[in-house]
Amino acid sequence: MNASVSQRAENEIGKVKDYSANNYAPLPLVLESAQGPWITDVDGKRYLDCLSAYSATTFGHAYPKFIEVLREQTQKISIASRAVYVEGFGDFAEGLAKLAGKEMILAMNTGAEANETALKVARKWGYRVKGVPEGRAKIIGAEGNFHGRTTTMISLSDDPVARADYGPFTPGFELVPFNDIEALKAAIDADTVAVFLEPIQGENGVYVPDEGYLKQVRELTSEHNVLLILDEVQTGLGRTGTTFRFQAEGIEPDLITVAKALGGGILPVSAVIGNRDVLGVLEPGTHGSTFGGNPLAAAIGKAVVDELATGQWQKNSQELHAALFEPLRALIGRGVTEVRGAGLWAGVDIDPKIGTAKDVCVDMLEKGVLAKDTRAKTIRLAPPFIVSREEVDLITRAFTEVIEARWQAAQ
Ligand code: PLP
Repeated sequence: MNASVSQRAENEIGKVKDYSANNYAPLPLVLESAQGPWITDVDGKRYLDCLSAYSATTFGHAYPKFIEVLREQTQKISIASRAVYVEGFGDFAEGLAKLAGKEMILAMNTGAEANETALKVARKWGYRVKGVPEGRAKIIGAEGNFHGRTTTMISLSDDPVARADYGPFTPGFELVPFNDIEALKAAIDADTVAVFLEPIQGENGVYVPDEGYLKQVRELTSEHNVLLILDEVQTGLGRTGTTFRFQAEGIEPDLITVAKALGGGILPVSAVIGNRDVLGVLEPGTHGSTFGGNPLAAAIGKAVVDELATGQWQKNSQELHAALFEPLRALIGRGVTEVRGAGLWAGVDIDPKIGTAKDVCVDMLEKGVLAKDTRAKTIRLAPPFIVSREEVDLITRAFTEVIEARWQAAQ
């Protein structure tokens, strides 16, 4: 790295520290550009992207079809608001609804907004359809969840860091341990309108519940006339090897929230997907967003839906799963304590004897792989599903070298 070039990185980091609120602790890496699964920093060093912007760039960076759609749509119309009709939104809504086997969608921008929307819909459904007395609707979530950073989403969270100093919180929520059907059974009462879960808890370390748990949740919620809302913001759209995670579980939720990859790595696009008997409770003026469902978002979202409808990417995730997971699992007992996940999405727990997950991520950067820690001991590996077999091998080789070096140093 020559001094004049690395000065560029320092300048950027310095400016961010001076002029941006300090709400992230980024890895010491300043990017300039990205293409496919590769990102390049301002000093010209390339890294294989295993963060994929928290699964927002699941198709890789600058995916040619999406760039083409971006060019075409921006020449026509980008932003209009839903106060008017713009050709294309209907196709996007139909495509996304059908991709999930549902009847309709409500378009928003971010994951947190989609989740807020789902909770509002569930409450309205509770009062209008289920007949819960006004103001009493209860929504049950899981301990360790991550559904976003808005006031309502952190009201549903038990993460002390996310919540500190942000109260008072939105009422009407109860948390139960994830993967504990008896606890959920005990929590459901006559005022319960929804159970709201991530099918795999991502930010909590890629926690996959026991086989059959979500099926039991579905049975229980149906029995008590309670909606099942699945937050598929991270698990959805191919990340776990099926289009949606609920498909692998053999269940049908009432509402599904999606975001991240729906924007094709180009812009924020999110949605709630459901049937008319639930989403139909909304009426004009009762919910909305200036940017939700804008023409550019709809065009990109439709292109993402079309890609997923081919099934090719889900197949690629499934086929590369073993190539990613087997070498990681081979490290258990030698610096790694557990490997969890599905498709091309792994959560790897690091033995504290060899350092923290962040230490390992910094070493991985040296080897040309960008990965991100989540919680203190877990590294999340989420390469875009356009990676090749050779690129997956490169990731696992770099990871193995880093873990082995730290394991030997700790002996
Ligand atoms: N839900 C899940 C499961 C997530 O992982 C995230 C973000 O990581 C969100 C919601 C929030 O999405 P956004 O950051 O777009 O608001």
